Amino acid sequence: MMAHMNESLQNSALRALVIFSGGQDSTTCLALAQREHGKENVECITFSYGQRHALEVEVAQKIAKALGVTHHRIVNIDGYAQLTQSALLNPEIAIQKLGEGTGLPNTVVDGRNMMFLLMAAIVAKQRGIHDLYTGVCETDSSGYPDCRDVFIKSCNATLNLAMEYEFRIHTPLMWLNKAQTWALADELGLLDYIEENTLTCYNGIIGRGCGTCPACTLRARGLEAYRGSK
Ligand code: ZN
Repeated sequence: MMAHMNESLQNSALRALVIFSGGQDSTTCLALAQREHGKENVECITFSYGQRHALEVEVAQKIAKALGVTHHRIVNIDGYAQLTQSALLNPEIAIQKLGEGTGLPNTVVDGRNMMFLLMAAIVAKQRGIHDLYTGVCETDSSGYPDCRDVFIKSCNATLNLAMEYEFRIHTPLMWLNKAQTWALADELGLLDYIEENTLTCYNGIIGRGCGTCPACTLRARGLEAYRGSK
């Protein structure tokens, strides 16, 4: 146990924990963290929180394995879906199309990223890790408040105070549009892999998806823009 602890502490400057859902953004983020920290130093964490498509967790496991992640933790957040209403949690609520309705989209899950970051931070501290990665993005996103840079900075400060520990939350996709995220996937040598294997679609269809939900629409528009720009 002690030997394990010392080893964790020695490598702590190198190690990173990625919040990983198996979608386009978090897969790109995982590959980027692996490039920056070295594959052997990157762990990931996936949350099962009652999302509409339980398949998400299976997809995340498959991709993490394919990318050579040695330590992948799945955390169940039982009861989360009972706290709030969202089309992403309740299959009986129809998912709004892009531009439909006013205010925040009905796929927003209140508190989700804050919950994920809190839980990831707890695990990271236990494992002597300071660097957390999340694929949140303010540009080209659906306007979710907990994907914005100001929220992440505030959450980082709060987590450091909460646990008296220096976390560094990295958001490499924050200011990229979807076309730029595809360009990054290409640079990482994973464009085809991500296009075919990740799950972003709100209707739970792997790869190119249903083609009509907001997530598929943004993803397809970005890919088209990137391919057009080459
Ligand atoms: Zn879709």
